Amino acid sequence: MSDTPPDLKIAPSSGPRGKTVGMVSLGCPKALVDSERILTRLRGDGYQTVGDYAEADAVIVNTCAFLDSAREESLEAIAEARASGRPVIVTGCMGGEEALIRDRFPDLAAVTGAQAYDAVVSAVHRAAPQPFAELIPTPPAGLKLTPSHYAYLKISEGCDHRCSFCIIPSLRGDLASRPVGDVLAEAEALVDRGVKELLVVAQDTSAYGLDIRYQPGDWRGREWRANLEDLARGLGELGVWTRLHYIYPYPHVDAVIPLMAEGKILPYLDIPFQHASPSVLKAMKRPANQERTLERLAAWRAIAPKLVVRSTFVVGFPGETEADFQFLLDWLEEAQLDRVGCFAYENVAGAAANHLPDHVPEEVKQDRRARFMKAAEGISRAKLKRKLGHVIDVLVDAVRPDGVALARSAADAPEIDGCVYVRDAAHLKVGEFARVRVERADAFDLQAAPMAPPPGARPGFRSAGARMHRVIGR
Ligand code: SF4
Repeated sequence: MSDTPPDLKIAPSSGPRGKTVGMVSLGCPKALVDSERILTRLRGDGYQTVGDYAEADAVIVNTCAFLDSAREESLEAIAEARASGRPVIVTGCMGGEEALIRDRFPDLAAVTGAQAYDAVVSAVHRAAPQPFAELIPTPPAGLKLTPSHYAYLKISEGCDHRCSFCIIPSLRGDLASRPVGDVLAEAEALVDRGVKELLVVAQDTSAYGLDIRYQPGDWRGREWRANLEDLARGLGELGVWTRLHYIYPYPHVDAVIPLMAEGKILPYLDIPFQHASPSVLKAMKRPANQERTLERLAAWRAIAPKLVVRSTFVVGFPGETEADFQFLLDWLEEAQLDRVGCFAYENVAGAAANHLPDHVPEEVKQDRRARFMKAAEGISRAKLKRKLGHVIDVLVDAVRPDGVALARSAADAPEIDGCVYVRDAAHLKVGEFARVRVERADAFDLQAAPMAPPPGARPGFRSAGARMHRVIGR
């Protein structure tokens, strides 16, 4: 599911002369991958990507509809793009509501739903026809809107679940897994381009392959099954960081934990638990709500003691009682999750949960959210304190003019987790690994000092030779 808050980006890149296109990309990493695919197609057709409305011959707005607040932001982004006077093509999750959008903005060049790549590309061709036919080669792994040292790897589209607060399946359809050979080949192409960290995403990553009956595929002259274990094993051969997002605690996830213990993939799992109370999980219609998650977490940690578990929760779901909420707090205390985000429940137009009885008053939701985050902060602070004096490897995201590097450890996914601030780090390079000693810790971040380079860099931990992709945020 889309657990990250909406994000807006216009991403420029260089390219040959021709017509130009601007992209405003909202929403979760899965939507960002859709934007990358559209821009890759357009790049192949000779379009340059620009980061300024004034330079764009057409603008694409990739919308998010996960929450009502995200829908509002999408409408604002469309209005802003329209104000530029450029032809505007709307796509993405909110694009499925064409009548509503057209009612507000009758003169849009096109409105398409999510993953409608052909329709978006055709609309751009109509709105800004190329003066000449020119096919431009694109990188095998396509254009990326992330910094060049990490990339999202989308392994499937859609979702077979029907969580009562979510409309994603109605927008993106049922689970549709990519062939395993294609996914591994794309990952390898990304690593060949200097990517150091692969972030595996899907609506439900742990369901990978179910719809295609785990159909085997070829990669590197061997056969791999389209399931989570083989995928993780293959990605582990690439020698870069592999991070798994949007996993549900099904029994078959057990198979990837030994790969974490062996250092093949990062000991990190992003599991959107959303709640712990059985009655709330039942009302949410959550997948794996009957699984014994605390026992499972304990078993995983016994195998991979460095395992970091990140999660998101929703408090104030319709019908949630104080006893349900207290159950959640007690569960969190026992689960000792490393990284936690929490949202106060919001209605989403079209979601079944809107019609559930006993909606929780807004002030109660906000109070529960604050209490939850206080408990989570206490756990995080205590866990980070235990890292004082430890030597850890980090990946450098940026180096500030004052010589402080902003880096991430295995425990920190980009944009959603904490940061490791490394002092005296002017010599470090963006997109490279460094070894540091932790000197200070607060609730969410660490401060550290650089150490000598790691002895014998791991294969794949080579110089990025790449620049940060400039992203203009709003
Ligand atoms: S239906 Fe549930 S599992 Fe599927 S995308 Fe929505 S929240 Fe995630």
